[in-house]
Amino acid sequence: MDLGLKDKIAVITGGSVGIGLAIAKGLAEEGVHIAICARNEERISQVAGKLRDEHKVQVLSYSCDVTKPKEIASFIESIDSHFGEVDILINNAGTGSNETIAEADDEKWQYFWDLHVMAAVRFSRGLMPLLERQGGGVILNNSSICAKQPLGYEPIYNTTKAALSMFSKCLANEFIPKNIRVNTINPGLILTPDWWNTANELSVKQGITAQQYLDNIARENTPIGRFATPEELAAFFVFMCSDKASYCVGSTYYVDGGWLKVVE
Ligand code: NDP
Repeated sequence: MDLGLKDKIAVITGGSVGIGLAIAKGLAEEGVHIAICARNEERISQVAGKLRDEHKVQVLSYSCDVTKPKEIASFIESIDSHFGEVDILINNAGTGSNETIAEADDEKWQYFWDLHVMAAVRFSRGLMPLLERQGGGVILNNSSICAKQPLGYEPIYNTTKAALSMFSKCLANEFIPKNIRVNTINPGLILTPDWWNTANELSVKQGITAQQYLDNIARENTPIGRFATPEELAAFFVFMCSDKASYCVGSTYYVDGGWLKVVE
């Protein structure tokens, strides 16, 4: 299927590893030029070099903490001066939390609010003129199944991802007259390096291997009984960026191996 994405320009936050990197690769394979950011400068610039070499597309990499408004503003300035326009924005940067409501302080709540909600607000608002310059485009917000079906150990993650999903719905209504299609994607268990770190740490306490730990999580939670690869999820993002998804507006799509326990 020709997705018609060649020579489009995509901005992906948190594009240096895991899901963001898989989306960047998936789009680059379609001939999309890429702007990616993450905090670790060395890793993001290495990734950019590889994407350029392997896919012969333009790649702008930028070291930026998306919880900091000034850093977002300078990344957007750099995108404007490098590309001058944008077709696709993927708000992806994020991470899990681990706390109880009784013990977590305001600072932690604020950090995750900035990471999962305000970053998406600031990127969407800041890049809107560059999307409009193109006559429209696509914004995808990478939320989580936890926005709907909370996990007990991470109330801050669950709450801020739920807020991101509502922001995404409001944004979709406001931006569709500008021909900007906004949607939310709620992944389930996606096997990124971060999961291996968790498995390596927690499996030791249980006296099992990291692989056994991951298998148990997948079997206990998902009807499909396994994790997805980042590439399986990225394929859906890439499709949603294309005009093949032209009537998809303001919706939330689950890519979760059947984990969601209700009809949505
Ligand atoms: P990873 O930890 O593998 O990658 C996260 C990426 O975001 C990295 O590039 C990281 O780079 C970047 N990042 C993290 N914090 C910041 C920050 N403050 N500023 C800029 N960049 C940042 O995560 P995943 O790929 O697993 O997750 C990506 C998204 O998918 C997240 O929003 C997550 O909530 C969501 N998700 C993941 C699931 C999973 O099972 N993996 C399931 C459901 C949702 P650096 O550290 O250098 O900044």
